[in-house]
Amino acid sequence: MSKLRLMLLGGPGAGKGTQAQGLIEYFKIPQISTGDMLRNAVSKKTALGLKAQEYMNAGQLVPDDVIIAMVKERLQAEDCQHGYLLDGFPRTLIQAKAMVDAGIGIDHVIEIQVPDAEIIKRICGRRVHPASGRVYHVDFQAPKVANLDDVTGEPLIQRDDDKEDVIRKRLAVYHQQTAPLIDFYQHQIKNLVEGDQIPKYDVIQGLGDVANIQQQIIHQIESGK
Ligand code: AMP
Repeated sequence: MSKLRLMLLGGPGAGKGTQAQGLIEYFKIPQISTGDMLRNAVSKKTALGLKAQEYMNAGQLVPDDVIIAMVKERLQAEDCQHGYLLDGFPRTLIQAKAMVDAGIGIDHVIEIQVPDAEIIKRICGRRVHPASGRVYHVDFQAPKVANLDDVTGEPLIQRDDDKEDVIRKRLAVYHQQTAPLIDFYQHQIKNLVEGDQIPKYDVIQGLGDVANIQQQIIHQIESGK
């Protein structure tokens, strides 16, 4: 089996986590979600979690060195040897360059574009099942029973960082610190890696039906392989 290393790029609430759920099943690769890894550390109150929590609740990014070490370690695991789906990482130029320096490749970047106003509407209604990472929306993707996970029946929560004032801060952080990756993966990376290691780059409009967006992403990935 050939390796498939994917990256989802987009603002908070663009649908990366939702799309990732379908993609990892379809392509049989693990989802590397730095947000989920951090939330897990927060709920277990590990040293990393205690440090990360303040940044997350303020809508800010967790320091690069912490994130880079965490992802490098995760990618060593056996389940990543046939590929992976990066969801929410890299999120800064420093993180992206650290990947290049460590020889960690990406075959395909999928940028999911959604206007800010739509993101604010979406995110305030978002609910998650903390144990599995399953994502719902009170209007657009409601669970079968209000506020309960479809699979386990356990309660859903609203993440602290999904509250409106925090989401506005996170959008500002996205435009300032993460959006430069659009240029990085489309242009600058050509000066840093060999031709066959330059990732393919596609933009998908993230508005509308989740399944339809998923089909478009799968189509782009399969035609790029
Ligand atoms: P997410 O679930 O991907 O939206 O991430 C939630 C929060 O975790 C972000 O707002 C950041 O505070 C933190 N976080 C997740 N991934 C990263 C990353 N790659 N770099 C820095 N902070 C991150």
